[in-house]
Amino acid sequence: MARIFCIANQKGGVGKTTTSVNLAAGLARIGQRVLLVDLDPQGNATMGSGVDKRKLELTVYDVLLESASVREAAVSAEKCGYQLLGANRELAGAEVELVDIERREKRLKSALAEVQADYDFVLIDCPPSLSMLTLNGLCSAHGVIVPMQCEYFALEGLTDLVNTIKQVHANLNPDLQIIGLLRVMFDPRITLQSQVSEQLRGHFGDKVFDTVIPRNVRLAEAPSYGLPGVVFDPNAKGSIAFVDFAREMVERVQRMAPVDQPKIQVKSASSA
Ligand code: ADP
Ligand code: MG
Repeated sequence: MARIFCIANQKGGVGKTTTSVNLAAGLARIGQRVLLVDLDPQGNATMGSGVDKRKLELTVYDVLLESASVREAAVSAEKCGYQLLGANRELAGAEVELVDIERREKRLKSALAEVQADYDFVLIDCPPSLSMLTLNGLCSAHGVIVPMQCEYFALEGLTDLVNTIKQVHANLNPDLQIIGLLRVMFDPRITLQSQVSEQLRGHFGDKVFDTVIPRNVRLAEAPSYGLPGVVFDPNAKGSIAFVDFAREMVERVQRMAPVDQPKIQVKSASSA
């Protein structure tokens, strides 16, 4: 049974999509069956997986409106090794269209339940807001991965997200927990970043992932080739870090409560 994780942070440009596509590709590389759900109308995770968002016949929008199942709407991101439930601008309309619909925040959860046996991991790339779309993601998930840059205001920015997660946990999804904070775009030469990184560790302890994703230009270049960095340049520092992060996620999942425990076998990246 798949473990479902949201990659969320209400700030834009913090590395959610980069984390989503590279973690998906990293997990695929170590032998995991992965579905990546693009829940952002910008469709960056879709394009970054080599799938043209303008040519998609069915997207997560159709799934939310229950006019298609996940199996019908998911496509193969062939070069990346995972399945993709894509998104495009149409998804922006879902926000309004879902308003008057019952169980509106549980649409994605019900749809994903049908395919949980098909995957080891389902990753959801959330939009930069705490909207109905993000709420659908949070209601579906076992946990949240929060990518963040080690900047001065990083901790303050977390408060809203943490409060939302607490509310969803209390009212809508008792399974939900913060799995961890992922330090991204990290530059150890910048003293402030090292200081904030230490602060995060002090404040959140083992809720901070061991893996740190460095700032790496290859990760930024990869989307223009329609590939995650992990596939575009597997030897780049940033790509190696994301495969390490994939391994760390597999280990974390193995330590999570045994309900619906997925069967996990880690293959080394070189043999994949
Ligand atoms: P979000 O989805 O949160 O808006 P993105 O993943 O799109 O953020 O990242 C924002 C920008 O930062 C993109 O241009 C991306 O290529 C770049 N970026 C993300 N992570 C890294 C990294 N580790 N090193 C260099 N550039 C990065
Ligand atoms: Mg994004």
